[in-house]
Amino acid sequence: MSAISDLARAYHFAAVRHLSQKRKGKAGEPYINHLTEVADLVATATGGCDVDVVIAAVLHDVLEDTPTTCEELVEGFGARVAGMVLEVSDDKALPKAERKRLQIEHAPHLTPGAKIIKLADKTANLRSLKKSPPADWDAARIADYVVWALAVAEGLRGTNPALEDLLAKAAAAMVTPSA
Ligand code: ZN
Repeated sequence: MSAISDLARAYHFAAVRHLSQKRKGKAGEPYINHLTEVADLVATATGGCDVDVVIAAVLHDVLEDTPTTCEELVEGFGARVAGMVLEVSDDKALPKAERKRLQIEHAPHLTPGAKIIKLADKTANLRSLKKSPPADWDAARIADYVVWALAVAEGLRGTNPALEDLLAKAAAAMVTPSA
């Protein structure tokens, strides 16, 4: 199978698995839009030089947010892709605060591909928060998210300057008034 067919298969797999899921924002965007944005950020920031990282970006939320298993990912997309997705997935058995703490703790120890996906994910989430904040999030909760996302990003420094710059800009945009 060629890299292009693997990538096309990953998009379709993600679209089917996340079918009917929506983003938390008040606009209720289809979940797949988050995945296409993260994959686009990853592909652009890396010049598309490593298709496995782009495929893992497309699939980065299937373990956390759908019943997909790691074995399925290994079988369908190989151990490297599955490994990166696993690296960027929280352990849902843990309480939310602990999961957030562990993301900060684990960030510096991720593989380079997983670090790039993590940066792109946080960038996309910050942009969404600006464009379409969840209806039940007040300013304090949004500010907490920005602080936490920056703390995770701190552990990802030196991974990809272009992406780190985009994340910093997305975070800065949160504290300036909307145009
Ligand atoms: Zn995500």
